[in-house]
Order: sequence, then structure tokens, then C-alpha cells
Amino acid sequence: MAVALPSFLTAIMIMSRLMAFIGITRNNDMSSKLQSLVIAPKLSYDPSAIESASQDFGHIEKAVPQAVLLPSSPWDIASLVNFSYSNSVPFIIAARGNSHSVNGQAMAKNGVVIDMTSMKNGNGTGIRIASDGSYADVGGQQFWIDVLNATLGLGLTPVSWTDYLYLTVGGTLSNAGISGQTFQYGPQISNVYEIDVITGTADFVTCSPNNNSDLFYAALGGLGQFGIITRARIPLEPAPKRVKWVRMLYTDFSDFTRDQELLISKNGRNDNKALNYLEGSLLLDQGSLDNWRSSFFQPQDQPKIISLITKFRIVYCLEIVKHYDGQTKTTVDKDLQQLLKGLSYLPGFMFEKDAKYEEFLNRVHSEELKLKAKGLWDVPHPWLNLFIPKSKISDFNDGVFKSIVLQRNITTGPVLVYPMNRKKWDDRMSAVIPDEEIFYTVGLLQSSGFDDWRTFEDQNKEILQFCEKAGIKVKQYLPHYTTKEGWVNHFGSKWSTFQKRKLQFDPKLLLSPGQRIFNNNE
Ligand code: FAD
Repeated sequence: MAVALPSFLTAIMIMSRLMAFIGITRNNDMSSKLQSLVIAPKLSYDPSAIESASQDFGHIEKAVPQAVLLPSSPWDIASLVNFSYSNSVPFIIAARGNSHSVNGQAMAKNGVVIDMTSMKNGNGTGIRIASDGSYADVGGQQFWIDVLNATLGLGLTPVSWTDYLYLTVGGTLSNAGISGQTFQYGPQISNVYEIDVITGTADFVTCSPNNNSDLFYAALGGLGQFGIITRARIPLEPAPKRVKWVRMLYTDFSDFTRDQELLISKNGRNDNKALNYLEGSLLLDQGSLDNWRSSFFQPQDQPKIISLITKFRIVYCLEIVKHYDGQTKTTVDKDLQQLLKGLSYLPGFMFEKDAKYEEFLNRVHSEELKLKAKGLWDVPHPWLNLFIPKSKISDFNDGVFKSIVLQRNITTGPVLVYPMNRKKWDDRMSAVIPDEEIFYTVGLLQSSGFDDWRTFEDQNKEILQFCEKAGIKVKQYLPHYTTKEGWVNHFGSKWSTFQKRKLQFDPKLLLSPGQRIFNNNE
């Protein structure tokens, strides 16, 4: 028996087919029309601009746009979207932050890519700090490193970060923005007061929990589907000066996760006694001591760590940070000792560092520079990022880390494992997380050669298949699906809201086609 499709679903399907048809047949038509626009001088057809907009950090996907818009203000963006929206032959548009996606999410095949970073030095929103220091208004194109530098100049800081800061505010807010602060402050999307968004209907909308809240919740974690974020109002707090940065090693996974969960149970936003950051990772071989996660371990400690890895093949590394400043300098060590009392890390395997706050936050960048110098940064990145319910993390360790990963023995690059608290996320937002109160993020952040990335993708597929068979209800972070069914499963109970919002805010399916949610044919 045929099931009647809801009318919005039918509309989306028709639009999706139409967009595919347009993409294939009307490219030349589009180029000539674009040239008649006021913003025409800001459209680049330069082969190098087109080439760089066709790629991303993943170096796996490629999709060539017709043109690249180099906007100098949000109005240029609105003008482009308006032109496409009101055209009888609309074209697809992708905002491109720093293009640090790994599966073509910021690409627009035969469409127009907006190079958001061209607004960094133009008339776009820059970084403006409120006179009372309570928030910063930040352009969607700004890199988080620039936000850090601007706010630190006034002794202030945002509270929720990503591990790597050369990502744009609009790019991470379209996903979630997670790191070791998430257990306490929630992801970056939980730390936004207000955003300006240019929707797929070219409306310029300021939204917040009290004002146009539907668009606010849609856009945060919305994978760029509902609008282009041109400004975000980010809360600020007084910045600490320095951090105590500690890593502890475990060979027993249940000891490792028990300690992680114990530590994140102290998670009040204003709890001075709580940790300020908690992550975890796998040490699988000698290389994992010093991959781009940071050169942390001192040369004199390395031989004993390497022999531990050689003996156990997987060592689990718990990583924590406690902030301090002039006032707490004398008490921080005692507070830290108190927090770490009774933990089950291996005696003799606790390592400590003292660093400037900004040095700690920007830790990945120095490793990036080293890898770039060796030609190992701009290589394929067949990444897999998952959220895993706490109740299944031990099954995941047995079936994935101890079986698939060890057997295949190909994993290079960091493998992150750390828990977060669901209550710090806002379920009204588009981001998708598991149902349980505590869930883990696992990031297999692998680098490969240009010839062998498929071997890593095969491992990723095997991991996902294992989870399905074992009944481990994982959710992908930075999700990538190639079928509609995959997306429907991913969003689960949020799918119908997600679709309705798409029809409301981007009914012609113009925006972020590279996510391939509604533009599966692109
Ligand atoms: P892009 O890749 O350019 O864009 C991503 C998506 O957002 C695309 O669909 C694009 O169309 C859309 N988009 C871009 N700008 C806007 C905008 N202004 N408005 C609306 N939509 C927009 N993520 C974490 O959460 N935590 C981490 O610790 C972390 N570490 C990372 C480390 C490295 C080395 C890399 C490469 C990535 C890391 N990521 C991390 C992932 C990262 O957050 C995402 O890939 C993010 O999308 C990258 O930001 P970007 O500015 O490069 O976005």
C-alpha cells in the first residue's frame, strides 16, 4: 500500500530533483546572470580561488563551484542569496569558514561558495567587546584564535572551546563546538546569547532564545541548513592567567572511564573547585606520544611510557586542566590534589605541566606548524567522530579499540575518548546527541597518504557496522551520510522538526548543499 507523503516532504523531494537538474544543465546561464549583479566585482572565477573552494581539510572529496564570492559585508551575502532565491533558476550556495570539514560539507558543486574569511578585514562584523565585558559580538567569519586574542587583551575569555582554534565561529556553531570544557560549560552552541542569520529566503534575522527562537535553535548545530551566521554574541568571563595541565595513564579501561566520569560529576559552571577541562585519548604506539595533540611528555619520561605501550598495546591517557591566576596561585596545587585523590591511574604515570592559558588553548597550532613543515598536514583525513552512550562505552572499547583498531593496526593520529554531560546541551537545538545523561565522544582523527585513505574509510565503515550489530546507538559528530535514510536515522525524533525548519527558512534548498541532507544528488 502506498503511503501518502506529507506535503512538505514531497516539496523537498521535488526541489531536490530540480536543484540537481539545474546544477547539471544551467551553469552557463547562471554565470552570465551573476555578472549582472551589483556584487559581480566580488565574484571570483580565478582558477586558484575555484580550486581552493573545491577542497577541504579532508582531501577526500572534491566539488567545483562556478564562482567564489568574496564578500566584504553581510549585505553582499544577502544580495547573493536574494538573487538566487528570487531567480527562476536558483543556484546552490555554501558558506565556507576555514574549510576544515573533512567530507565536502562546505562545497557547492556548480554553485557559489562564499569565502567567509574575506570579511575578516572588510566591513563585516569584526570582534566587538561589550563595555561591561559581559559578551563579545563576533563575525561568523572570525577564527576562534582571533576571538581569544581580542578578548584576552581585556582580561576576558569565552568559556567553551574547540581543541583547535583556526576554525570559524560560524563553522563550529553549525556543528556544536566541543572540547574538554564541554562537560562543564556545554558545547559552544550552549554559549551563545544571540546570532544574526541570513536565511535561505535572504532575510536578515537577529535571533535569540526570546526573539525568533525557532531560527536560533535551528541554526545552532544546524549544519548550515537554515541560514548563514554573520554574527554571534558570545558570553565572556574573566580569563585565568595560567593552567596546571596533567596527564595520567591507565591500562584498565574501566578504571579510566570511572575516573573520567567521577571528575565530570563536579560540573557547576561557577564551581571553583571543579576541573576546567577534561579529555582522554589512546596511546597506541610511539607516534601517539607526540602527534598533533601536543608535545606533552618530556623526553626523559618517554622510554617508560613506550615500554608500557609495547607491553599493553593500548594505554589510556586522561588529560585534565585546572586554571589559576595570581589569587589562586597558592591554592591550585592543593585543589588539584584534592580532585585527583583516590583516582586509579598507574602509580608513577602522572605527568604535569604548567602553561600560559593561551598556550594551552592554542596547543594544536604549534603541532600544525611542525606537521606542515614535514608536508604531513595537508594530507587526506579519513576521520570518524562519534557520540557513544555511557552504557555502551565498554562494549565499544572491546569491539573497536581492542579488536578492530588493534587488528587492522593502521590508525595514525589522535584517538580521543572523553565523556560529557547531556544536561549541558539544549535539546531544542539541531545538534544530535545520544539519549543518556552521560555520553562519550570518540574521535578517530586519522591522517593517511593520498593513495591509502580508502583503507581508513573501510575501518570507519567496519566500526559503524560493528556498532549497529552490537546495538550501540552511536550518533555521528560532524555527521556524514550519503543516503536520506542515513540522515533520517541520524536525526531520529528531530528529523520532522529539522525538515519543517528547512522548508521554512530555506525552502529552495539553497544553503550548505555539501552536507548532502536535502541535496543528495549534488
Ligand atoms: P567549514 O568547514 O568551512 O564549514 C562547515 C559547515 O558549516 C559547512 O556546511 C559550511 O557551509 C557551514 N558554515 C560555515 N560557515 C558558516 C556560517 N557562518 N554560517 C552557517 N554555516 C556555515 N570540532 C570540534 O567541535 N571540536 C574540536 O576540537 C575540533 N577540532 C578540530 C581540529 C582540526 C585540526 C580540524 C580540521 C577540525 C576540528 N573540528 C573540531 C571540526 C570543526 O569544528 C568543523 O570541521 C568545523 O566545521 C570547521 O569550521 P570551519 O570554519 O572550517 O567550517
